[in-house]
Amino acid sequence: MSVLSTRHKLEILADAAKYDASCASSGTKKRDSLSGRKGGLGSTEGMGICHAYAPDGRCISLLKILLTNSCIFDCHYCINRRSSDVRRARFTVWEVVDLTLNFYRRNYIEGLFLSSGIIRSPDYTMEQLVGVARALREEHDFRGYIHLKTIPDADPELTHQAGLYADRLSINVELPTEEGLKRLAPEKDEKRIEGAMKELRTSIEDMGDARKRYRHAPRFAPAGQSTQMIVGADGADDRAILRRARSLYDRHALRRVYYSAFSPIPSPSAVLPLKRPPLLREHRLYQSDWMMRFYGFSVSDIEQATDPETGHLPLDIDPKLAWALRHRGIFPMDVNRAPREMLLRVPGLGVKAVDRILASRRQRRLRLDDVARLTSSIAKLRPFLIASDWRPLHLIDKVDLKRRLTPPPTQFELFT
Ligand code: SF4
Repeated sequence: MSVLSTRHKLEILADAAKYDASCASSGTKKRDSLSGRKGGLGSTEGMGICHAYAPDGRCISLLKILLTNSCIFDCHYCINRRSSDVRRARFTVWEVVDLTLNFYRRNYIEGLFLSSGIIRSPDYTMEQLVGVARALREEHDFRGYIHLKTIPDADPELTHQAGLYADRLSINVELPTEEGLKRLAPEKDEKRIEGAMKELRTSIEDMGDARKRYRHAPRFAPAGQSTQMIVGADGADDRAILRRARSLYDRHALRRVYYSAFSPIPSPSAVLPLKRPPLLREHRLYQSDWMMRFYGFSVSDIEQATDPETGHLPLDIDPKLAWALRHRGIFPMDVNRAPREMLLRVPGLGVKAVDRILASRRQRRLRLDDVARLTSSIAKLRPFLIASDWRPLHLIDKVDLKRRLTPPPTQFELFT
């Protein structure tokens, strides 16, 4: 391997990290400041810095890189797999520490997202990742956010050390089903992955309890653990994906499951699909995930919004509207009387809007205009709500209700 400058390594290893969705701001159009007659400002293609949300809701910029894109595993969907002919690079622990501190001092970033291919062995790789976090925290008193990807096969003691330095740890389940994992990542094992998640949950809870009792007990992964699933690389439908996500949330107390639409990679393996799934599919999964976590929908509720034949969520309407159209009997709902959990089922009403409605109706009976002031769009809500001056007779039973509530189709751009 020729000697690469840090800048070249950064180009390679930040680009290789873009396939990890756990803190990605992906899915937008490609733009850069070089195109256009007079040039411009900013770029959506620059690598290395991504945005994530901290536990307190702040949006923070992270340096997102791999320690190395070399790997001894050969997962079919991964550009860094052993048999891939991409250019390889590897940072030393000190290079990552220096880059993080320099970027931080220049105010480019507020934290680090570090992942890695597996070199030599899972333990050796994990030691390197922990070494970066340890040096940042202990030698440089770095107070910024650190998210470390952990390697399920590594010694649990190393994962424990990682939790003492990192804010968040994540272990990717990679594929929604065990069959998919066996076919596309034969060196990975679902039981080992879930075993590592279970141990992490125990450590997070034990250390959290210790901190409640002893003020000086060390912090351990205060932003919890998360995972990522690749969507569209195997044949799993949206129902299977959401069922797996729900089970991971319940059994391992995950903070987030990230869904990453499979994107075709250069020199792909023959077992992979040729086309990526629509990005909208990823978006519908995030909406359904939100419904499970914040709106009180069970996974079987959301399954009722999927197509009975394909098992996929509709792409033309959001899953909450799809669910409501199949449960017209419970609508329209009285905005002045319905309990919070039922209002959260109304398409177009989010948590904030529902809480504002509950606060306002303690003062007076709400009219449709009042609801309009408390929400972002009244048009979608009208068929589903009764207000003191609004009673939508038969609107909910209209055969063309879905068409009325669906945004008009937009013309695709031919050359994007
Ligand atoms: S272990 Fe990770 S980096 Fe290595 S090939 Fe599999 S997905 Fe890629």
